[in-house]
Amino acid sequence: MGNSDMAASAQKFVYAFGGGSAEGRADMKALLGGKGANLAEMANLGLPVPPGFTISTEVCTAYYANEKNYPEGLDAQMSEALRQVETVAGARFGEASNPLLVSVRSGARASMPGMMDTVLNLGLNDQTVEGLAQRSGDRRFAFDSYRRFISMYSDVVLGVDHADFEDILGGFKDERSYALDTDITAEEWQGLIARYKALVENETGDAFPQDPHEQLWGAISAVFKSWNGARAITYRKLNSIPEDWGTAVNVQAMVFGNMGDTSATGVAFTRNPSTGIKELYGEFLVNAQGEDVVAGIRTPQNITERARIEAASDAPSLEALMPETFAELSRTFDLLERHYRDMQDMEFTIQEGKLWMLQTRIGKRTAKAALRIAVDMAAEGLIGREEAVLRIDPASLDQLLHPTLDPEAKREVIATGLPASPGAASGEIVFDADEAERLKALNRRVILVRIETSPEDIHGMHAAEGILTTRGGMTSHAAVVARGMGKPCVSGAGSLRIDYQAGTLSVMGVLLKKGETITIDGSSGQVMRGEVATIKPELSGDFALLMTWADSFRRMGVRANAETPLDARTAREFGAEGIGLCRTEHMFFDSERIVAVREMIIADKLDARRAALAKLLPMQRNDFIALFEIMAGLPVTIRLLDPPLHEFLPQADHEIEEVAEQMNANPDTLRARIAELKEFNPMLGHRGVRLLISYPEIAEMQARAIFEAATEVARRTGQAPIPEVMVPLVASRAEFDVVKERVLAIASQVAEETGLVIDYSVGTMIELPRAALRAAEIAESADFFSFGTNDLTQTTFGISRDDAARFIGEYTSKGVFKMDPFISLDIEGVGELVRIGTERGRQTKPGLKTGICGEHGGDPASIAFCETVNLDYVSCSPFRVPIARLAAAQASLSKI
Ligand code: PEP
Ligand code: MG
Repeated sequence: MGNSDMAASAQKFVYAFGGGSAEGRADMKALLGGKGANLAEMANLGLPVPPGFTISTEVCTAYYANEKNYPEGLDAQMSEALRQVETVAGARFGEASNPLLVSVRSGARASMPGMMDTVLNLGLNDQTVEGLAQRSGDRRFAFDSYRRFISMYSDVVLGVDHADFEDILGGFKDERSYALDTDITAEEWQGLIARYKALVENETGDAFPQDPHEQLWGAISAVFKSWNGARAITYRKLNSIPEDWGTAVNVQAMVFGNMGDTSATGVAFTRNPSTGIKELYGEFLVNAQGEDVVAGIRTPQNITERARIEAASDAPSLEALMPETFAELSRTFDLLERHYRDMQDMEFTIQEGKLWMLQTRIGKRTAKAALRIAVDMAAEGLIGREEAVLRIDPASLDQLLHPTLDPEAKREVIATGLPASPGAASGEIVFDADEAERLKALNRRVILVRIETSPEDIHGMHAAEGILTTRGGMTSHAAVVARGMGKPCVSGAGSLRIDYQAGTLSVMGVLLKKGETITIDGSSGQVMRGEVATIKPELSGDFALLMTWADSFRRMGVRANAETPLDARTAREFGAEGIGLCRTEHMFFDSERIVAVREMIIADKLDARRAALAKLLPMQRNDFIALFEIMAGLPVTIRLLDPPLHEFLPQADHEIEEVAEQMNANPDTLRARIAELKEFNPMLGHRGVRLLISYPEIAEMQARAIFEAATEVARRTGQAPIPEVMVPLVASRAEFDVVKERVLAIASQVAEETGLVIDYSVGTMIELPRAALRAAEIAESADFFSFGTNDLTQTTFGISRDDAARFIGEYTSKGVFKMDPFISLDIEGVGELVRIGTERGRQTKPGLKTGICGEHGGDPASIAFCETVNLDYVSCSPFRVPIARLAAAQASLSKI
């Protein structure tokens, strides 16, 4: 195929496919959208794809740029493409005796399931419906298709509420006591169609359009408009999809899954998207059209016998029902998976025994499945280990850290549905998405409970801890979206009855009201009354294996920010290679030692302060002993006291009295000292190195605790720790030197006292712009740098860390900031300072060890940046260590 008669200079807007070839390819997603690009690819592979054409995303962008007008030349290109479809399909658009019918669907660059509109059976009118009846030999089918088209088109294009059509239909069925739509005869459908058309005329003032070309343009415009619909906008925000990508539109010859019992429609995955197990996995409905499966209105049947038996379902599998088509389907799935070298999520239709492929795409999967698939595909030789590592989204590992139900905990199971998305969650029952969002804002934990979910519920699903539906299968909207979000979901719990009006959920004698707590287990499908205890998951198997591969590709080290033994142990279990930041001030808040800390602060004489510090010394020593033992020979970076002293002091009057009594001090003295310590801007005040310069004895006590602890652990365990003493908030070499000198002096004293020399280093945080700029000079004296990007972001932007939350949300939603710079490093600004700091530091001291210990050390995008500036390690909170290990490996691999 080709548009050879088009002027060579004209921009190409329309790409045809079908009949064994296509103008597009899988790698043209930006232009053709995911659906269009993959339809083209499947056509090129010779798979049975109904012919059609894709209108490119550039048309969408041009449409919005040009006040919703289409670019010149589109019309002619579309007519040409439509002619080609007619030739391949052997039918003509609008021809009464042999009409071509088409579907019109959106298809954005990134998959946005259910977010935009679709119109099926387009091209039907009062004449062509007769042609369809004659050609198919089935009048009932033809008129059923026509009424579906009228309601869908009117809903999507003309803005007539779908429910109004359903009311007419429901009323009619009640009158006749019909249970199913299939009970309705052709003549009865004709009568209903007349009522549908009257409804449209009533609502819109115009007759339902009979001209197929007018219908086509109407549907195309509706799809382009739906790109800016509320649902799509929310979805884009949640998934960081840029506004200006636009959607493509796919116009494709219709095939019918609703032409009787040899027809069907279904969706399938080449591997199980929940567990990753290599098994054909999917669902279908006999005699059904397009969206029925995903809409979750009828509960679908299993494709394979094995799955049917596992689900203990009475409804026959496709394998049993249509063995030959099933065999072709299996072959097609294998071919697609091998071709794309990844798990595929496909839609297909069987029309009178003939298979048609309607879509294929890389399947969304849970983190657990992603790991399993990557590891298995590497073992199968389909991909290499590097690619396996690159395929896992580091942030998704968070899902694996989700709690699971404690097997020992008591549970009162009230119902069992399908295990649609793994993990366990508890929360209050909420029946409405808006309500879920409202309660979440109040810090309440909710489970969104719906008969079924639709794209309108997406914000509520996002707000909920988990999702429970009473209808719909494993590929229903709720299941697919929950898996994508990494939220637990139980779907199709059919024994539960929801009464939205009464706000109740009931099952066999149990009645639960809105606000009561339930627990769902998305791994088993169980629904339980009340809150059930959960436990931390074990990180072994595929996870552990993939992590060892990641570690083998990773250049940067990964350490943890930890100060408690629990955090340090967790960090080790997650694979941390040391501690990159131990914030010693956190150790001072302990109820047992806060009195001594306060004594130290209010002391206005050196002696009194030394006495208080002497009380703290053994406590600090024990803190460090514990950390050094857990970290067994690994580096441990200990930062000397950083925050302003007033943070430790009581504020309220009664607290002051209480503390004064505890300390045996005069309340007025305490009050006066608090007043003295008050600062206008403590974040930029007397903290960090400034404090250590004013009170060097604090640094001395901490240094002594460090070296004594290191010596003791070295003696006791034979594994000498590597303490790295770190000075915070340094702006100049001179500041650093004052403190360093004290630390060195204490180190030699302790070595002399104990007779044991410990290997150690003294370095600095780089968390002020001046420090980054003067790094060359600071590196003359400092043994290492650790970028404190929390403070560096604060001081580079001049935005207070403590006050940022008030307006950063607005900045990101208005697009002033792409990302919150306290979450993901501002590469152009703050990143530039990190680069300068590293380069200048290493000019003075080649091989100077550098790391990052701000929150950004656990953010994949920031980690990728750290690789580009050659930092030696990243340090992050213990629970992010696995994410950082994988992100660092990917950063190394992407750099090659
Ligand atoms: C930083 O500023 O990035 C840092 C790690 O220190 P803190 O968050 O304790 O100020
Ligand atoms: Mg800091």
